[in-house]
This record gives sequence, structure tokens and C-alpha cells, in this order.
Amino acid sequence: MILTYIRVTIRPLGPWRVGAVGQDQAALETLRDNAGRPALPPSSLAGSFRACIDEAARKLLMGQEKTKDGKPEASALWFLGTRLTGVEDGQPEIRRRTATAVDRNRRAARNHGSHDVEEVYDTETIQLYLRHEGDPAEALRLLGKWRVTIGGGISTGLGRAEVTAISYRTLDLSHPADLLARVSLRDAGPDALDALLQGGTDHKVAAGESLTLLEATIRIDGLNLPTQDLKDQLRPEDHWFHGTRWKGILRGRVEYIGRSLGLDICGAEDQQWRGCGKCAVCEVFGSGETGAGRWSFHFTPLKPDHPAGRTRNAIDRFTRGVAEKKLFPEKTVTSQARLVIGQLDGVETHHAWVLKALLLALRDLQEGYLGIGGRTSTGLGSVRFEKLRLGEELQRFGMTATTPEAAEGITEAEIELERTHRSLKEKEEKEKMQHA
Ligand SMILES: [Zn+2]
Repeated sequence: MILTYIRVTIRPLGPWRVGAVGQDQAALETLRDNAGRPALPPSSLAGSFRACIDEAARKLLMGQEKTKDGKPEASALWFLGTRLTGVEDGQPEIRRRTATAVDRNRRAARNHGSHDVEEVYDTETIQLYLRHEGDPAEALRLLGKWRVTIGGGISTGLGRAEVTAISYRTLDLSHPADLLARVSLRDAGPDALDALLQGGTDHKVAAGESLTLLEATIRIDGLNLPTQDLKDQLRPEDHWFHGTRWKGILRGRVEYIGRSLGLDICGAEDQQWRGCGKCAVCEVFGSGETGAGRWSFHFTPLKPDHPAGRTRNAIDRFTRGVAEKKLFPEKTVTSQARLVIGQLDGVETHHAWVLKALLLALRDLQEGYLGIGGRTSTGLGSVRFEKLRLGEELQRFGMTATTPEAAEGITEAEIELERTHRSLKEKEEKEKMQHA
């Protein structure tokens, strides 16, 4: 029998989370081990790998639920375990942040719409250990070009990662020396496997270029970072700008632009908003119905300077007086930030106006019609673009702007294209319903 042990080194490009059913009803928790540290089950990575390979490879490596005679078939590739290491000899850290659901009418935080989300920060590397039975060539080839993702929240930029190294050792159990090496692997924990792999071989990793829709370097003036205590140092999560925030800000504006053009775009009134699943914005940005959408809004590092604390008083909503004992301390920083939108999938021709609207939303940010950080009414969160680069997809649609001011307007023809597409789609659906 031929057995191959494989170690894949994965580098997360930002925070990640693996959903867990926790005790706390008001929080989306991430999975923990028995000691309360962040855990990443190998099955989660197996899911990411499975999603990246085709049906034939899935059959070959991952096994099938049932074969023809009804017996479950074992997979050739086993995901044995993971080991996490933190940055600078530290430990990966679970941080909680309060995600505020935005009231889509008022563009302000909903009163009762907030919940906590846990994310894992400061992970330097993830070592994934695998075992393969038989000729390992195909498994190694596919692992070498694996575009790995960790856990959930991919379209909001969580869990982006890359494979940086693959090391493996093949044992032929008909050879006494290899058999001995296998037997001495008494407990197949990470230490034993690392020891075995010291005599192993490196497999080349194909640097997988992921497609970028657009990238921008910006400066945010007066960015608010919520804090427990103004004397606190900046926390790990303060050094990241959340993809969810970018997505929320830009999606809201694109919807608004669409409605201003007279298009039938969802999002205006529904309180329990998960997207209509029918309009062009849902198709591109995703919805409860249509899934993750075509783009991913990356978590991007912040470089905050001049942190200055300030305290805000909560104003009582009815008396307009300062509510007692309701202080929300915030740190206000000026920070360089980046906006990176990755492409999970291409858009269709009738989406041209959405692409234009996205750039117009950036122009609205630059010109101060939109701000960042939820406190823009208090004069914070103004944005200045220092660099803007459009990816191939936007260029394919004839867009050439290198600054938000140069963003082109949406043409009548593009609006008409969207209208025609929508009415054709609705007609088709009606016909389908009648036949059903
Ligand atoms: Zn919609």
C-alpha cells in the first residue's frame, strides 16, 4: 500500500470565522476548542477544497456518498487535522464586534438591530495535515492550485487565504524502512507528522492570481473606532476595515442610484431586508435568495495615525436631552485604508449600469455625499481617494476612470438594456409558472 502524508501551509490574508452554535443567542460565535481557543476543523477546509475541484476529481479523491451497491466509499484523501499559529509568537485571538444592522430608510443604525459577531484575528499560519492512499500526483497537483477559503463570510471578505507551501512524504508499506516509519507514527498528531515530514519533499505551489474588480487607496479623516475605554490601546480589529462595511455602504448607494433612474431595485422599505433576489443589485451583490453574489469585499488593513479619543453622549430620542449614563466612547483616527473588490464571478451585459453606479458611489464618497463609519452626520468619516485602479472587467465595459471624479455617467441605452432584461426575465418566469 502507498500512503502519502501531506502538510499544506496556509496563510490567512485577514480575519476569519467558522460558525458555531454557541450559548449566546445574541452573538454569532466562532468555533472553539476545549480550551476556548479558536478552532478550525479540517472538515471546513475539506469543504473549501471540494468546492474548488471538478466532479471527476471529487469522485477520485473525496469519495462518494454511496456507490452503486449502496455501500459508502472511503475517500482517498483524508483531512486529518489543523494547527494554528499566531503572529509574533502569540496566539490567534477571538474578538467580538457589534455588527449594526442598518435601517435602510434612514441610513442610520437600527435601534434593536445589533448583534455581536466573533472573528479570529492574528493568525500567522494554518498547517493542514492530510493523508492520501494511492498515487498522490493528482491530489498534490490540485492542492498546489487550491484557492483556499476559511469558514464563512467570504463575500464580505472574511476567510481569504493562500497556500504558501506543501510538503509531503510517500511511504510504500511493502518497504521495511517505510513500514517502520509508519508504525512509529503512533499518535498521528501534528508533532509526529512534522517529524515524519522532515524527511519529505516540497511540492510546488502555483501562485493563484485572483481577479480584482477594482482597488483603491484612500484616506479616511475622522474614522470612528468604538472602544470600551478611551485609555485602551488600539485592538487587533482596529487595524482592519471590514468588508461588510464596504459592502453595506456601496450597495446602499448603488441601490439608491438604481431607484433614482427609475429601475425596480429592492431595499427601500423592507425592514427584514435580505434582498428581493430578483433585481440586478441582488444578482451582483448577492441576497438571501441568490447567494453570495459576484463580488467579494475584502477586509483591508488600516493604518491609523493620531488616535484621539472623544466621548459621545447618547441623546434621548424623545426629550432631546442627554440620556443619563449612556456614553459611547469612541476613538477617532485618521487612517490610510484600502478598498479592494475581488471578483468571484463575472457580470452580465445588462449589469453595465451597476458597474457605472459603483464608480459613481465612489465619487459620492469623495465628494462627501456619503461618509464612512456611521457618524457622518457629526462631520466624521470623510474620504479622499489617493489611487484608483480598475480591473479588466471594468475596462471590458469601456470604463477608464483613474479618479472617482472621472467616473462616467450611466447612459440611456444602459438603463434601457436593464429594463428590457428584467421584463424578459419576468415574462419567462410567468410562463414557467403557467406550465408548472
Ligand atoms: Zn433585489
